Amino acid sequence: MKKTVLREYAKLIVRTGVNVQKGQDVLIYAGLDQPEFVAMVVDEAYKAKARKVTVNWSYQPLQKLHIRHQSVTTLGTVEAWEEARLQHYVDIHPCRIHLVSEDPDGLKGVNLEKMAKGRQASYKILKPYSDQRQNKEQWCIAAVPGAAWAKKIFPNLTKSQAMEKLWEAILSTSRVDDDPLAAWDAHNKDLKERCDYLNSLGISKLHYTADNGTDFTVGMMPEAQFCAGGEETLSGVFYNPNIPTEECFISPNKHQADGIVYSSKPLSYQGQLIDNFSIRFENGKAVEVHAEQNEDLLKTMISMDEGASYLGECALVPQTSPISQSGLLFYNTLFDENAACHLALGAGFPDTFKDFQNKTLEECKSCGMNDSMIHVDFMIGCDSMNIDAITQDGKVVPIFRKGNWAF
Ligand code: ZN
Repeated sequence: MKKTVLREYAKLIVRTGVNVQKGQDVLIYAGLDQPEFVAMVVDEAYKAKARKVTVNWSYQPLQKLHIRHQSVTTLGTVEAWEEARLQHYVDIHPCRIHLVSEDPDGLKGVNLEKMAKGRQASYKILKPYSDQRQNKEQWCIAAVPGAAWAKKIFPNLTKSQAMEKLWEAILSTSRVDDDPLAAWDAHNKDLKERCDYLNSLGISKLHYTADNGTDFTVGMMPEAQFCAGGEETLSGVFYNPNIPTEECFISPNKHQADGIVYSSKPLSYQGQLIDNFSIRFENGKAVEVHAEQNEDLLKTMISMDEGASYLGECALVPQTSPISQSGLLFYNTLFDENAACHLALGAGFPDTFKDFQNKTLEECKSCGMNDSMIHVDFMIGCDSMNIDAITQDGKVVPIFRKGNWAF
């Protein structure tokens, strides 16, 4: 890929993505796949007047080794020096850039139960730190090609051809063309107008139907609202948490989901694929799941904790989105969730509440927002999907027809 184009992408991540503020620290999480691109992002961050940029490199095969060789106790331990670092970052509010490039099959063969137990234990220690950072830091997830990931998407190409193809796919779906910063301003504006309309309707329920058998109703919390695109930190810094993003999303009422949904794309979870699955809900809870591939993994996922079998997100994405149009399955949620309407099991988003700045997590939960250690998106949108809104005053308003916006 041309260096000038990559430079535009690096700038987009730094400016539109995290919107680095003068004097702010920047943390970058990256694999070993694109060191030259990571250096460009570091350079752009310094040009945006970052105080200090720290790169945290990772190499996915190490994660497998740690799970295999460490005891469950060690896996679940957060060392004192790690906590000191977490506290340091709570104190200084850096912005965080995650450059994802992992092999979707990279964790194949790990002992899932052991990994889950380790995560459950460490989560208890990590959670208070992440809660304290909520809405105070800008963060952005964007992607760069990794060799194994590229070969997974384009199995018939050589490694270098596949990498180039994946760069093209990432950049085009991320709107990196003539003037990416201007394109993102226009895109954010369009998403905001759609959310404003949805929020003006006073939706009490969404009813989904599709030819594949999906027939499902989910209730909304009156306190929540549809969000999309960029967000603001409590101190008023506008940033874009996901590049790309196409969804208008909301956290539903965890107690109100009934009916059955069928997946329209495979779900890549913990390095493995769950495929052709259905989930039946009763009073908000996933009470029955089936999957042609990896049903046990799906069952493990929804029993990670109490909230893992309830919904935390409903997102609307038209079939006309650039990612859907690319026709590619990326095996990565950042892209695939922006190709189709989806739901997520697990934690809801406190910042989808009106006036969330003045609400505690407990208040959000008492309104019906779900909480969990997991948040896993799965795709249900397809060309035949119709969605109706049932409003608080009993009207039925078409939201989606045949997979696309009805307004
Ligand atoms: Zn989503």
